[in-house]
Amino acid sequence: MWPWLTFALGVVLVVGLVAALPVARRRRIGGGRTPGPALVAEHRQAFEALHEAQVFNEAVLAASPDVMVVLDLVSGDWEWTSRNVWEALGEYAASTAEAPAGILRHLVEEDRALVYETMARLATLPDGESVMIRFRLRRPGGPPRWILGRATPFARGSGRPRALAVLRDVTEIAELDARLQHSALHDPLTGLPNRSRLVELITTAEQQGDDAGDLALMFCDLDRFKHINDTYGHAAGDAVLVEVGRRLQGALRAGDSVARVGGDEFVALLAPTRGSGGPPQSPAERSSALESLARRIQDRVSGPIEHAGNELEVTFSVGIATVSRGAAAADALRDADDAMYRAKRSGRGRVSMFDEALRTERESRLRVATALAHALAPTPEGLARLSVVYQPVLDLRGLRLMGWEALARLTDQEGKAIAPDQFIPVAEDLGVVHLLDQEVLELSLTALREWTVAHPAAGPLTMAVNVSASQVHRVNLTTVIRSALERHGIPASSLVVEVTESVLLGLGSSTLGQLRELHDLGVAVAIDDFGTGYASLQYLTTLPVDALKIDRSFTQKLSTDPTSAAIIRAVAALAAELGLTCIVEGIETQAQLEALPPGVLGQGFLLGEPRPTLSGEASTEKKDFTPAG
Ligand code: C2E
Ligand code: CA
Ligand code: CA
Repeated sequence: MWPWLTFALGVVLVVGLVAALPVARRRRIGGGRTPGPALVAEHRQAFEALHEAQVFNEAVLAASPDVMVVLDLVSGDWEWTSRNVWEALGEYAASTAEAPAGILRHLVEEDRALVYETMARLATLPDGESVMIRFRLRRPGGPPRWILGRATPFARGSGRPRALAVLRDVTEIAELDARLQHSALHDPLTGLPNRSRLVELITTAEQQGDDAGDLALMFCDLDRFKHINDTYGHAAGDAVLVEVGRRLQGALRAGDSVARVGGDEFVALLAPTRGSGGPPQSPAERSSALESLARRIQDRVSGPIEHAGNELEVTFSVGIATVSRGAAAADALRDADDAMYRAKRSGRGRVSMFDEALRTERESRLRVATALAHALAPTPEGLARLSVVYQPVLDLRGLRLMGWEALARLTDQEGKAIAPDQFIPVAEDLGVVHLLDQEVLELSLTALREWTVAHPAAGPLTMAVNVSASQVHRVNLTTVIRSALERHGIPASSLVVEVTESVLLGLGSSTLGQLRELHDLGVAVAIDDFGTGYASLQYLTTLPVDALKIDRSFTQKLSTDPTSAAIIRAVAALAAELGLTCIVEGIETQAQLEALPPGVLGQGFLLGEPRPTLSGEASTEKKDFTPAG
């Protein structure tokens, strides 16, 4: 606001002043006849008005923080300056005791060309237009000052092109600007560039590089950083981040840069290696060179960090991606991030290079995520994409139907089925699996209710639903389940909730509390995939558990591997002793069926495949079998 206002005011005043002077002089001299008393009075009035205008003018100029200058656009000399020029810019002028024109000589070298170019442009600018520039003036014994100038050409009729300029010292604002800009682009803790700045750096490097394909990103993620934070406190965590940032910088070459892009995530941007004149590297050679570079950097950066008398062990996982020519920086970052995730999955301190497999995996995850988003939207088309199939659970004595397990099914836009092993992990990652579980609960309780109404003579049958317990904190499981049971008029004893063993072992006390509430409500809690999570059998007695489902990997080896058979027998005996139901999963063959201990329930393709409707038909041909033992 200020420059325009002051500028406009200044232009009016100064132009008025400069134009008024010759007019006054002309009028005084003009005419040739002897001035009469009337004329004298007129002259006096004119003179006084002029004087008044001048005084007002000077007061305005003096009060203004700006310096107004009339500039000769040919010589660069300042023909006129407002009175307060010394006050505002005096610091520079006084130090040199030079005329104002000399100030131009104190331009910072880098800004000189800009100022002279602007003067040349001003000379050709149409009337009424103006330009604004920012330049720096050197100052003895101190940092340069920033000056903001706005100038407009004027009085060109007089021969020499001139401009009126309004100047202001904006050093404080410029410094604040720079600080804001720095903080917008840097991480305050480590002082390293942040993600925004990294994207700028990548883009600039891509534009400058003669072979952008040689640029690479190394995405580094600290291993077990949360553990450091939780165990030693946030100050220790901060110290680790600062030190890792410092070590990373030290491990890179000049021309490389490192940014902190997230909590414990750093990204190094590796400039192209100027070859030693040898033949260009093949992509495979390039990959292996980058991988060994990453390992060298890991070696230099890993290692204990001292903090408050503690030795904090630091390792990190690295994902590498090259930046392909013309690719968006964000895409390259995502590639490196994906590669880092794969490195993480394979353990601590690993290195992984982005490749086609990861690209395919990402595309399929995207397809799955899209299908999930559609399926979970409460629209008719959405609901049609998510369905449930029911697999019978039988009591092996007489193959009596005990109930079903509800299994979710998802189709993509083209109606192609997506396997649960694909969409459940994606739903978990996206944090929507509890919505899916609730939908399955709704559909399966509806189906059970219909079945019960249609078969009034049948005894009570159970419906088992899978619950991703890692997400239980997102909802109150007990409330959701209790209200669903009430709505469908189904007793709690007809519902089984299956939680996988590995998840159960990692559950916090609040989730365990929810399972206990369910158990107390009368809902059966079953440990799914039992045997894969190494739960100690002793631990079982402390959990709110009603049933064990022996994982199908044991069933598969049942008739060939004596150990598996022994394990199944032992678990079945233990379950019986603890009063738990034991269900054997994945029964596919008659031989497996016959090798099972008595008293267990069974589930598997042999006994009944998952089907879209509830059915009690066991598909085994041999219905009159008797279990071994
Ligand atoms: P799970 O809970 O262990 O479910 C049993 C899986 O074994 C099902 O695979 C079923 O189709 C399959 N199966 C049944 N009988 C046999 C057999 O005789 N041989 C073999 N090889 N497999 C058999 P599905 O439906 O692909 O489900 C895979 C997993 O996805 C499930 O394993 C469960 O962990 C998860 N899942 C399925 N539906 C849901 C759901 O609604 N919510 C949650 N959270 N997870 C679900
Ligand atoms: Ca299950
Ligand atoms: Ca299972």
